[in-house]
Amino acid sequence: MTDWQGKHVTVAGLGVSGVPAAKVLHGLGAKVTVVNDGDDARAREQAAELQALGVTVRLGDGATLPEGTELIVTAPGWKPDKPLFAAADEAGVPVWGDVELAWRLRKPDAAPWLAVTGTNGKTTTVQMLASILKAAGLRTAAVGNIGVSLLDAVLGEEQYDVLAVELSSYQLHWAPSLRAHSAAVLNLAPDHLDWHGSMEAYAADKGRIYEGNRVACVYNVADKATEDLVREADVEEGCRAIGFTLGTPGPSQLGVVEGILVDRAFVENRHKNAQELAEVTDVNPPAPHNIANALAAAALARAFGVPASAVRDGLRAFTPDAHRIAHVADVDGVAYVDDSKATNTHATEASLAAYESIVWIAGGLAKGATFDELVAGAAKRLRGAVLIGRDRALIREALARHAPEVPVVDLDRTDTGAMLQAVQEARRLARPGDTVLLAPACASMDMFANYNKRGDAFAQAVRELGA
Ligand code: ADP
Repeated sequence: MTDWQGKHVTVAGLGVSGVPAAKVLHGLGAKVTVVNDGDDARAREQAAELQALGVTVRLGDGATLPEGTELIVTAPGWKPDKPLFAAADEAGVPVWGDVELAWRLRKPDAAPWLAVTGTNGKTTTVQMLASILKAAGLRTAAVGNIGVSLLDAVLGEEQYDVLAVELSSYQLHWAPSLRAHSAAVLNLAPDHLDWHGSMEAYAADKGRIYEGNRVACVYNVADKATEDLVREADVEEGCRAIGFTLGTPGPSQLGVVEGILVDRAFVENRHKNAQELAEVTDVNPPAPHNIANALAAAALARAFGVPASAVRDGLRAFTPDAHRIAHVADVDGVAYVDDSKATNTHATEASLAAYESIVWIAGGLAKGATFDELVAGAAKRLRGAVLIGRDRALIREALARHAPEVPVVDLDRTDTGAMLQAVQEARRLARPGDTVLLAPACASMDMFANYNKRGDAFAQAVRELGA
């Protein structure tokens, strides 16, 4: 659909994707109607902005398909089982997400996409990738859920050679025709299952990222489910499966040998067996899961033809976003680390694996998760635990089952001062050489506006300890 003049397009949902999509489509000459479930102050404000441009907005009615709709462009978070989509299906109306819209609107000479998905590590990997591509002198940006929006990246004035694109499972669900240059699925663990309906459906949506890849499908050797997705994907002829591993790499793999990140997949001619890319210590922080992220980023960059030296330079230039295993301070020989972004058990498992002796601060909204496996796996490394937030009893019970000897402080408060008390309790439990780790395994919204605010509260509390 290239002629937008007069097309009846329904945009499902206001917000960060709907408002820009409505503006762009309206600017292209489409007749845009935005439907939105909510009718709160924020929605009204956004609606007023669009109405002033001539866009029709229906607040409080996201279920009815507006008459004459030829295409729906949906916010990625809208669940596929919504009545609006059933009505669209019946009427034969296609549904695109924000990513599909950006993909279809890109210019003919647009920059190729190097795409990344996975349950955890997406943002970090995409930023590492952008840093490596920049080190190679390429014009690029980290886009998607972070940095520049996809629509801006494909329609804006700025010229790019290549884009490093973060994609969520929701976005992939609604992006049927996306064809990346190369793509990586970092890992797969149960998350957002209420939205997708089942683990199979979640994996299938993630696997969409490989469809039609031209050069490389990058998978995690330690996570067989990612390799299975590559096998099931329909790719262009000549597209290769490239694995990454924390161990010694096999053929067509990147891996680690004696503290060096090495490439056996994209070796240049003069290097017969493997090419050194970077030292493990060039990765910030050099925790195992983050080295895996670095290898995935390196694989995508190498698939794009970037030289080995740029991988090292790019990794050295990279600094992680806040609240992702961020070292806050050392107080009395104890390190305080903020991994507030560890909002699910899979992420928390990775951060608990990165330290030897831990006082663990955890809790919040569990989102239906269970904690037995997480706690059993980390039990030997726990010096103690301090529990906060609404669903902390679930973690306390898992600790009682799998780590009965670990001292636990259960803080029965959810006010804003709770984090200071949690940090004080953690300090009491910690010994020199230990790490006090905020890795909540839960969402933050019972106590904080978001994970950023939770991490800020932790850092502030640590500063008060040191004062
Ligand atoms: P995403 O964008 O997928 O949410 P981030 O890069 O923001 O991922 O990292 C989120 C959290 O996930 C981090 O705080 C860290 O604890 C954890 N994490 C990062 N990379 C990985 C990985 N490869 N495997 C498991 N957990 C990870």
